[in-house]
Amino acid sequence: MDRRAFLITSAGVAAFSASPAASRGEGAIAGDGPLPEGQPASDGYQPPSWLRYSRTIYFDGKTPPVYPHLREFDAGRLVKVAIQLGGDTIRFEPVSNWAYYPSKAFPVCPELNGRDLIDEVSRECRKAGVHIYCYSKFGNPSMVVGWADSHPEYADWVLRGPDGKPYGTYNNLGWNQIQKPCSTSDAYRQGIRQVTRELCAHDIDGVYFDAPSGWGYTDICYCPSCRKNFLAFSGMDLDRLQNKEDMEARIAWFHWWNQVNLDELEACRKIIHESGKFMLCHNGDTWMGFALRGQYRIPEGFMVEHSPQIYTRLMTGLMGASMARPYHKVAQMYLGSYCVSNFGQPPHCQPWGLHDATMEDGDEILMEGFTNLACGNLPLYATLNRGYYGSGSGSDRPVREVFDVMRRVEVLLKDSAPVPYITVVPTWEALQVWRTNRKTWNVEMSQGFALAMLDERLSLDVCPSTEVTARWLGSQRVIALCGATGVSAGQARILADWVREGGSLLATYDTGLCDELGRLKPGGMLQELLGVEMKGEPLASLSECYYRPKESHPALGDYGPGTRLMGDTQLLPVAAVGEAKVLADCWNLGLDEVRGPAIIANNYGKGRTLYVSGSLEAHYASSRVVSLRRLLASMVSYLAYDAPPPFTTTAPRGVYGVLRQAANGDRVLWLLANVGFKDADIGRMRQEFVPLSHVQAKIQLPSGRGVKKVHLIRAGRSVAAPVENGYVVVEIPSLHVAEIVHVELA
Ligand SMILES: [Zn+2]
Repeated sequence: MDRRAFLITSAGVAAFSASPAASRGEGAIAGDGPLPEGQPASDGYQPPSWLRYSRTIYFDGKTPPVYPHLREFDAGRLVKVAIQLGGDTIRFEPVSNWAYYPSKAFPVCPELNGRDLIDEVSRECRKAGVHIYCYSKFGNPSMVVGWADSHPEYADWVLRGPDGKPYGTYNNLGWNQIQKPCSTSDAYRQGIRQVTRELCAHDIDGVYFDAPSGWGYTDICYCPSCRKNFLAFSGMDLDRLQNKEDMEARIAWFHWWNQVNLDELEACRKIIHESGKFMLCHNGDTWMGFALRGQYRIPEGFMVEHSPQIYTRLMTGLMGASMARPYHKVAQMYLGSYCVSNFGQPPHCQPWGLHDATMEDGDEILMEGFTNLACGNLPLYATLNRGYYGSGSGSDRPVREVFDVMRRVEVLLKDSAPVPYITVVPTWEALQVWRTNRKTWNVEMSQGFALAMLDERLSLDVCPSTEVTARWLGSQRVIALCGATGVSAGQARILADWVREGGSLLATYDTGLCDELGRLKPGGMLQELLGVEMKGEPLASLSECYYRPKESHPALGDYGPGTRLMGDTQLLPVAAVGEAKVLADCWNLGLDEVRGPAIIANNYGKGRTLYVSGSLEAHYASSRVVSLRRLLASMVSYLAYDAPPPFTTTAPRGVYGVLRQAANGDRVLWLLANVGFKDADIGRMRQEFVPLSHVQAKIQLPSGRGVKKVHLIRAGRSVAAPVENGYVVVEIPSLHVAEIVHVELA
């Protein structure tokens, strides 16, 4: 399956998308017009080959030794520590709360005294053969509240309310002393372009922009520049945005914001490429309905946001890799973090960067690093500041091992791809329901589904709808749309074509209830394909809902008439239409009342579909009730015509497997033994992992292939490789945190 060849053009990627790329220069637009679309790099720039397998370490600019005071900064020491940690690349942050070089555009650190820290670090990097690229702000806050009052040259960089006064602080991570910027004014955008030119005038390899499309960092600004530009773009008065109910104005504003971001990214990319350097972006805020949809296609690579839970990290990481793979781009993911916890904690963890200077790493760094790699993403270690001080009672052993393993698996990991039994497809269109004030749970339901598949050892991939085309579908066995509220007519058509030719689709809850603009579609967008007529919005949640099979059916596994299964308390009112069959209904125990059909099976052409009117997967993520998982697994197996799974393992629940196919065809099974102290549902706590012994894994061989050798990469040894019924049987004597099983094919 060669996805690259046909996805390389924007025409290819637009196939499943709601609407074609907006034409440039589109002036006044209707409120619900298509969003601007990021384009694949097409200016002929070729990034250096090392970038796609770099071991990057992040030096943060918001903490010591540069902030709040510039003290003890020694570039030589910094580069030395990066090398000790196993890195070969530094992401240096010279544009942070201050600029740490003599910038003409960005507020310069008052303690800089004419120094240029980029030059200092770059010189040491070049001497040591370490790559360097520079982090820059793009639209996220940097100035202390009130600072611009005494520095009027930056007055236009401040987010302003309708009264013209500054408003908005970045306080959701404890930075309530930091003023939100006006990221859309001409002055700010010209400033960032100038910063980009200044960075590119240094001897560095590339530029990284933090948080383009990061809505949480900024807000709607009412400064004179924003008023003028929004009016010119939309024909609307910006003051309409003061009325939060005015959705037409709001939609137009986000359209404008997207266009500003797109124009700026392309302008900066031009500056960067013309200086022979690469561009990377933070992409963690972009899977939001009002962000720039194709942003990830603009730079040479992007950072996928990390996640404290390992199964959600797998979900996000696999999805990020699926965004990068068609274009040969880099997807990076944080390894370690400098926050104790993300949200909802007492002030011990605020502001966010508090724990930057202590080195307390433990085995969770191994787990995160191997998880990132298993997804096909490059670990980006946070942060170098900690190693710089060497304080704390922890160790840098974990990160060194992650980078060491990374070096050893390069030929297996680079250009590899997952071997999915099922692919879950989070959809961009589901996120568009904000336009009609609706809510979607597509991300959470997709995560829950991923967890159920990981727990059932049904090999999983995650691919966003923005990278789904008819040809991509042709390479898939089963796909799942989990609470994918919005579906476009184009998507409905290629899904129907694919199923008619033998594809299998699982759809849950409100999948296709709305179109790609969040408008309720009578009957649903997938009525004919699923054999399901949707009768409107979800019913109110009721406790004590059970699913009752009406017949024995392979999709229900061992559950037949007379059994009651844990069901979802939420339900979409539906009816089976055409030849479709209701396999189970949803019954309320307390009221002794049937709420409606729960599971509906349909045959469509040569293919099969199953629809569930609730979300067993969302329920599973919070309850982990076994029947929920088993039912989902039997549905997937039925949809896969009982094809044997690509791998199995005897390891206990909590051990996640990710099976990949190397560029040369070899199979590589990443086993992540996420078992042990798990009482950490909110923060990134230090974690202990329980060692396992005598774990068996069976890995399916491609037809016609034999085994030359099986190697346990982390243990550094080969093991016996007996073959049974098309599977190579691998005994793993001990499994602690992770093992990487390489099946070298004969
Ligand atoms: Zn403004």
